[in-house]
Amino acid sequence: MQILLMGPPGAGKGTQAVKLVEKFSIPQISTGDMFRAAVKEGTELGKKAKACMEAGTLVPDEVTVGIVRERLAKEDCKNGFILDGFPRTVEQAEELQKILEELGMSLTKVLNIHVPAEHLIERAVGRRICKTCGATYHVKFNPPKSDKVCDNCGGQLYQRADDNEETMKKRLSVYEESTRPLIDYYKKVGVYAEIDGRQPIENVTEELVNVLYSVKN
Ligand code: ADP
Ligand code: ADP
Ligand code: ZN
Repeated sequence: MQILLMGPPGAGKGTQAVKLVEKFSIPQISTGDMFRAAVKEGTELGKKAKACMEAGTLVPDEVTVGIVRERLAKEDCKNGFILDGFPRTVEQAEELQKILEELGMSLTKVLNIHVPAEHLIERAVGRRICKTCGATYHVKFNPPKSDKVCDNCGGQLYQRADDNEETMKKRLSVYEESTRPLIDYYKKVGVYAEIDGRQPIENVTEELVNVLYSVKN
């Protein structure tokens, strides 16, 4: 199953990807997570991505497409994958199409988590992530049992540098301009489905899973 999870920043892509990984035993491929890991390690890739991420703009397509091409060629993607946060431009979508053709694959479903803009800043600003295991919380909507500590592993929780109101506004405008056009792109391809992301996390998961179960292939 080759799944693409789409949606604006803060819509719940990462949260849902983790649930789908458990359910379908296929890996999550998050370009944002890959870039953050590279920045932390100080690699060449990290150097290329850092300034864009801090500014809330997109990392150039040639950089982003390259890391996805390498990742999708790995053995663990043979039975499928969940792309989270890629593609974000029509150009990236066209490149993805080429990569999948090279691998003899196609997209099973494009799932767009729809959340109106007015909710997204609150979602991002309240997001907290575990330094150790990467689990995602929200101070109000999905709070950890104890402040600043991960329920899963006891790790320390942190806030992403770009999860502030100002950078989020930029990310949302980049989404409107560069990423929203993908909705029409994938509607034309014909594997598109939209899920209401304003529901509680468990309900969103249930709807996503139902759509995936209904796919005949
Ligand atoms: P969110 O899920 O909140 O939208 P991500 O973790 O997916 O955030 O992305 C964080 C940042 O990483 C983006 O603002 C952008 O700078 C960079 N990034 C992630 N994915 C891509 C992509 N497909 N193309 C270009 N830049 C990307
Ligand atoms: P994305 O990967 O799309 O940027 P995340 O999955 O990281 O989004 O979710 C953004 C924030 O919103 C996190 O703090 C997360 O806990 C919270 N969140 C995710 N899904 C929901 C939901 N259905 N209702 C309320 N808050 C949510
Ligand atoms: Zn943890």
